[in-house]
Amino acid sequence: MSGIESVLQENRLFPPSPATVSAATISGQAAYDALCAEAEKDYAGYWARLARENLLWQKPFTQTLDESNAPFFKWFADGELNVSYNCLERNLQNGNADKVAIIFESDGGEVNKVTYRQLYEKVCQLANGIKSLGYQKGERAIIYMPMSVEAICAMHACARLGLTHSVVFGGFSAKSLQERIVDAHATLVICADEQVRGGKNIPLKPAVEEAFAMGGCEHVRKVIVYQRTGGKVNWDANRDVWMHELAANQATDCAPTWVDAEHPLFILYTSGSTGKPKGVQHSSAGYLLHAMLTMKWTFDIQPNDVFWCTADVGWVTGHTYIAYGPLAVGATQIVFEGIPTYPHSGRFWEMIAKHKASIFYTAPTAIRSLIKASESTPASHPRNYDLSSLRLMGSVGEPINPEAWMWYYENVGGKRCPIVDTWWQTETGGHMITPLPGVHGLKPGSCTMPFPGIAAAIVDETGNDVEKGKGGFLVIKKPWPSMIRAIWGDPERFVKSYYPADFNGKYYLAGDGANRDLDGYFWIMGRIDDVLNVSGHRLGTMEIESALVANPLVAEAAVVGRPDDLTGEAVVAFVVLKQSRPNAEEGQKIAKELREWVGKEIGPIAKPKEIRFGENLPKTRSGKIMRRLLRDLAKGAEITQDISTLENPAILDQLKVAQ
Ligand code: ATP
Ligand code: MG
Repeated sequence: MSGIESVLQENRLFPPSPATVSAATISGQAAYDALCAEAEKDYAGYWARLARENLLWQKPFTQTLDESNAPFFKWFADGELNVSYNCLERNLQNGNADKVAIIFESDGGEVNKVTYRQLYEKVCQLANGIKSLGYQKGERAIIYMPMSVEAICAMHACARLGLTHSVVFGGFSAKSLQERIVDAHATLVICADEQVRGGKNIPLKPAVEEAFAMGGCEHVRKVIVYQRTGGKVNWDANRDVWMHELAANQATDCAPTWVDAEHPLFILYTSGSTGKPKGVQHSSAGYLLHAMLTMKWTFDIQPNDVFWCTADVGWVTGHTYIAYGPLAVGATQIVFEGIPTYPHSGRFWEMIAKHKASIFYTAPTAIRSLIKASESTPASHPRNYDLSSLRLMGSVGEPINPEAWMWYYENVGGKRCPIVDTWWQTETGGHMITPLPGVHGLKPGSCTMPFPGIAAAIVDETGNDVEKGKGGFLVIKKPWPSMIRAIWGDPERFVKSYYPADFNGKYYLAGDGANRDLDGYFWIMGRIDDVLNVSGHRLGTMEIESALVANPLVAEAAVVGRPDDLTGEAVVAFVVLKQSRPNAEEGQKIAKELREWVGKEIGPIAKPKEIRFGENLPKTRSGKIMRRLLRDLAKGAEITQDISTLENPAILDQLKVAQ
C-alpha cells in the first residue's frame, strides 16, 4: 500500500495583496522563511526565545524541552507563571485597562461591553468566592455553561487558582456530563440555570442533577450556578451556590496562584467524530504561548481589530481563540450567545456590520448551511449587509470544500479578505498548518503551509516521507509547546492513539490523511479511518465530497465506503441539496446527474455507486459530519456505536434506506 491517491485538481491561486503583505506582522516570504530557518537550526532555542518574549513568567525557565520520558514531553518545565495573570494583569499594566475586551451579544440581541479592568475584577471576585468555598490548586472543575462573559470568567477564575477546568458543551446530555465529571474526578461544577438559544430557554441545571443521580459524582462538593434566565430550579442549600451571591462581596483583586509551566490548565473531551471521547490534557505555558503566537501571526491581530470567533467555549477553538488567545494579546472580541440562524440566517452578517468586526473565524459547516440559507432566503445573503469592516477571515473544524471557500471569499470577504484555513486539533492546542495572511498565496481548500516551527510532514505507514504530489498520513515530527500532554487518566491510550508503535512511534500521528502538492501545499483528505479503497485505489473522502459540492444543486455531501464484491469498496454518497429533499423519482434523476458529474470532475473510479438524499447529515454537536455512522447506514447495519455526541439522531432514520 502506498499512501492515499489524490484525484481532485485545484489550480486557483490567490496571492496576498501588496498592502496585506506590507501591513502584516509576518510580512512576506522571507520573514516566514527566516522563522522556519531559525527553528530548523536551533529548535529548542527558537521556542525558548518566543516563550521569553511572549509570556510573563513569575519564575523564568531554564530548561526548554525535556524529552527524557518521550512521548510525554515537557516544555519550560522549571518555569512558573499563571495563565489568567498573563491574560488580565498584563492588560492592566500595558495601557489596555479601559479597552473593551468583550463585546457580548445575547441570543436576543442585547449588547454588553466589558473592559479589561471590569473583566479582571469579575474574574477576581469569582476566584475569591471559589477560594472561600475551600477549593485549592490541583482540583478539577467542570464548567457547563452557555456562551457568556460568565463562562469566560469561570475559566479564568479556575486558571487563577490553579484549578484544572473541563468545559462541557452546554448542548451535551446529562449522560455525557456525568461521564466527564466521573472521568475528570471533578470536585466542583459551575453551571447556569438555563441557556438561551434560538429564542428558547433550555434548562442546564436539571442535567447536572440528573448526572448526579446517575452516580459516581460524589466527589463534587459544590455547584456554582450562574443565573442566566431566572427560570425555576431545584435547590440543594448545602451544595448549590448562586454565582452572583458568591461573588458579590468579594474583593476585586485576587493574587494569582503561580503554577508550573506544565500544570494542566484544562482537560477537554474531543468531539467524538471517531469514537469514545478522550480527555485531552493541556499544559499552561506551552499552550498559552501557541495561543498568543497564532493570534499574532495567523490572525495578524492589530490593536484596533475587532476579532470574532464564532465557536463555543465548549470546543477547543473556543478555548484558544476566545477564552485565552485574544485576551493574552489584548484584543477586542465579540462573544455571541446565540446561533447563526436566529432570528434569521443573516445574523452573522448583521453582527459583523453592527460591531464592525475585522477578523471573522468560523467553521465550514456554518458556511455551507448559510450558503443553503441564502439561496432559499435571499434576504439573508451577505450582499445585503455592509461587511466592509472585514479584513481577514478564517475557517476551522473540517476541510473546507473549494466551492464553499470561493463563496466565502467572494460573498463575505468581497474578494478582498484573505482566508486562513487553519488545520489543527483539540490535541494540538492551536493552529498547525495554516496560511499566514502576509505570506502565502491561497488555494481554495488547502490549509497551505506549516506554522513556523511546526514540523508537519506526510509519511507512509512505515514513517517514511512520501514524495510531493502523493498522499499519506499527516504527522508532526517534533514535539511542540502546545501539544497534548496526556489523555487524562489513560497514558496507554495516549501512546496508542498518537505515537503508535506499529506505525513508527517517533512522530505524532494526527489521524488525518493528507497530500502535499508540487508547490508544497498541504491538502487534508479526511480522516485515515474514512479512507476508501476502490479497486485498489485509496481515496480520501474529501475530494469526492468537494466534487459533489461543486455541483450547483448540492449544499453538502458526505462520502463513505461500503464493502463491494467487485471493487472491494463502493462509494456511497449522502447528499443534502440546496433545494428540499427530492422525492424518489426526482432523486433518481438527480443521482444520475451527480454520478456523471463526479465522473467528469474526478474520474469514473470515484463515481458513487449509490446516492442517498437527506435534509441534513448526522453531525457532532460541533457541526462535524459523523462518517462512521454513515458507514453503518451504507451497508445496512444497525448502529451500535457511541452516539452520545450526535446532534441530530432523527436524521439517521431518513438516511437508512436507499430511495
Ligand atoms: P475526535 O478526535 O473525538 O474524533 P474530532 O477530531 O472531530 O473528534 P477536533 O479535535 O475538534 O475533534 O477536530 C480535529 C479534526 O478536525 C482534525 O483532525 C481534522 O480532521 C479536522 N479539521 C480541523 N480543522 C481542519 C481544517 N482546517 N482542514 C481540514 N480538516 C480540519
Ligand atoms: Mg480528532
